[in-house]
Amino acid sequence: MDNNNNNNIKKIGIFGGSFNPVHRGHMEMANLAIEKLDLDRLYLVPVGTPCHRCDNDFVSGQDRMAMIKLVCLNNKKLFPCDYEIISEKVSYTYDTLLKIAEIHPDSLIYEIIGEDSAEYLTSWKNYEKMVDLCKFVFFKRKGYQSTIHGLLTIEAPLFNISSTLIREKIKNNEPLEDYITPEVEEYIREHNLYR
Ligand code: ATP
Repeated sequence: MDNNNNNNIKKIGIFGGSFNPVHRGHMEMANLAIEKLDLDRLYLVPVGTPCHRCDNDFVSGQDRMAMIKLVCLNNKKLFPCDYEIISEKVSYTYDTLLKIAEIHPDSLIYEIIGEDSAEYLTSWKNYEKMVDLCKFVFFKRKGYQSTIHGLLTIEAPLFNISSTLIREKIKNNEPLEDYITPEVEEYIREHNLYR
């Protein structure tokens, strides 16, 4: 994360996930969040050691981060954040939020989440404190019917895509262009990931 000129940055988004790998659904969400919330910057934060799920060991944090860096190259407002990847501790979004709030004082922070994550949001570490520090922004997801109320919802088409689907397609040697960017596809091929 670069810490320069942060005083001019007033609206920040945080979008965390396994990103295993980062896919076009994530990109659509990121672009829509930037546009609809008028964000100055959106951080993509790959989880390091997750507390809820254990699916991030398909590939290393470094590889997931490298793919995120590739998709950030095409958008000036999108920034990779390696805070959770380089931390030795279990990743909690609360800690990441504190860190980002510290380097962007006086800015409004939005936490971007999909419907499957929103279902267990209230069990996140320090959820009540997070509500004071950020606004949760929520995207609906195909196959989920959440009963969450009071979150800011971004109206968007349902993106019928997941990293699980992509990992399956890679194993089956199926075309990937509808699901990931060419740069990410090339990275996966070069490093022989998800085989
Ligand atoms: P996996 O299939 O491995 O579980 P995933 O596709 O859900 O992965 P994650 O990296 O776990 O991807 O997702 C990061 C965030 O993006 C989560 O908040 C998740 O809910 C959200 N998300 C991912 N894909 C979609 C989608 N197609 N629609 C809405 N939200 C999504």
